[in-house]
Amino acid sequence: MPTTAFSNHFRRELDVGQLARLMLWDTPEASEDHLSEAQRAWIRTDVRCSSCGVGGAQIVRATKSTGTRGGTRQAHFRFIGDDAMDAHHRFCEFHGADGQERQSESLVNFGSAKTIETRLIGRLVCKGIEQGIFDQTAIRGMRQWFFDLKAANRFTITINSTAVDWLSALLRHPIYPRWVFHPVQAQLPGFDWKQATNHAFTEQFWPLFDHMSGRRLRNAESRTKHLVACYAGQEVFDPAALKPSYELTLQLASFVGRNSGLDFSRSKPSEYRWKGAPPALMALCALILFVSDWQLNAAIGKFAQIMAAPAPSDPLLGNVVGLNPFHDYAAWQMVVLAQEISEQPTGIRVYDAELARIEAELREAYRAWTQRQS
Ligand SMILES: [Zn+2]
Repeated sequence: MPTTAFSNHFRRELDVGQLARLMLWDTPEASEDHLSEAQRAWIRTDVRCSSCGVGGAQIVRATKSTGTRGGTRQAHFRFIGDDAMDAHHRFCEFHGADGQERQSESLVNFGSAKTIETRLIGRLVCKGIEQGIFDQTAIRGMRQWFFDLKAANRFTITINSTAVDWLSALLRHPIYPRWVFHPVQAQLPGFDWKQATNHAFTEQFWPLFDHMSGRRLRNAESRTKHLVACYAGQEVFDPAALKPSYELTLQLASFVGRNSGLDFSRSKPSEYRWKGAPPALMALCALILFVSDWQLNAAIGKFAQIMAAPAPSDPLLGNVVGLNPFHDYAAWQMVVLAQEISEQPTGIRVYDAELARIEAELREAYRAWTQRQS
């Protein structure tokens, strides 16, 4: 249930109460209960889902539970089509969510001062809005861009967590230096069978390591398993479509982190790729790139303009919710890679069992070899 939605007329994200007060500005103490039928009809054409952009917004009144379990529900928007069914696009995060509190984890509240990064970014967002570089319509446009990308690029999850275990083990496996076993090597008194087993594993599964080359991402194993468990058998967003914008956003975030003089104390720009950048910074960088047609230097120019602008006169302007489209990007990439690896001729294996098998094979090869020598 989206508690807020986007008003095309007021050009911003509003909850039911805020929308009613704006529409009934001449009636003090007005609430959504005072809206006329005509005003409600107007809302159905004006207010859009913040994610998929569908219209048909109806106001669902707040309810107070009479039972002992509490459970009051805030007034919210419900999007209903002509067929009286849920009007959200079937890939919209709000589809089928009516009655459930669901907040997209990709959203970043620029107005919250929870971390130093968010406070710093919140000020920049204020300035950016005051300077006319972006506004809530741009944020809404970016959410629609992200939604359309998600809806157009899908794949079906066919794996389960064993495929993620297999991929994680492969990613952890030390592949260098490469070394080929020969039984003669095991004649040395301190021959290390474990090491030899690791080397032989690398050689046996080399096509997989080759396939994964250049696709190592920060470790997101538990999150990857969570996604696989949640969406098993379902059609989901293929993150490959985000790669160009992800790379640009990461470049801009790292550049800004290094060159803006802003103190993102806890994170190092050089480690953003491996450890993750502050979500608020990623959200702001993505927004500036979005309004710059994804041109890196145009975006840097806008960033410079924001940094040079005077302190914001209205600090509340930054009280908006932005989108970090790259939340979970690493985990989704891992899902895709785990699925690709599972489709290789070697299928899905259990790492420890493979090591045990290989060690037994090496020892048997050595035994047969020594027999032939005598
Ligand atoms: Zn929607």
